Amino acid sequence: MDACVKLKEEIRACRECRERFGHEPNPVLRGKPHAPIMHISQAPSIHVHRTGLPFNDKSGHTLRKEWYGISDETFYDENKFYITTAGKCYPGKNPSGGDKKPPKICADLWLGKELAAVENELYLIVGKAASEHFFPGVPLKELIMKDWTIRGKEAFVLPHPSPLNVKMFKDHPAFFDDRLPLIRKRIHDILGL
Ligand code: SF4
Repeated sequence: MDACVKLKEEIRACRECRERFGHEPNPVLRGKPHAPIMHISQAPSIHVHRTGLPFNDKSGHTLRKEWYGISDETFYDENKFYITTAGKCYPGKNPSGGDKKPPKICADLWLGKELAAVENELYLIVGKAASEHFFPGVPLKELIMKDWTIRGKEAFVLPHPSPLNVKMFKDHPAFFDDRLPLIRKRIHDILGL
């Protein structure tokens, strides 16, 4: 069995956080090891937890249609995107509202193995929890405005497209005016769109 398929099976079988969450974990990830774009966000929403399909929610619609300018078919093509997260399971709700942060143990257990298994050209890092894993201590507002490299490969950092992030969007119009067109062009160039 191919090493990446085996790794994905191991991750999907992981129940490390069952007690921490108080619900049955459902690790969500997809993609082939030769996918040119590795897409790393923070953690599945409750809707993604229930359906098992990443970004199968309002945030995903914004990300694909408005930000990347690609079809659902392209985003979910496992030969094009390897889609994973810093925390692969829905972590539950905070009593004060919003979802809990993904447990750090998940990235410690799995993300390094995925990074080693995928032969991508480009990383798209989406949201604070994911960007903190790669760039600890660097504010998101700084990360989203510059080009980066991870493991010697090109990387872009984006804010999370959640509708709850509306203040961040209002406060950083330059991301939409200057950075997003560039990110979209790189995605389209790499995928030959
Ligand atoms: S969040 Fe990660 S470590 Fe925790 S159960 Fe899911 S896959 Fe395992």
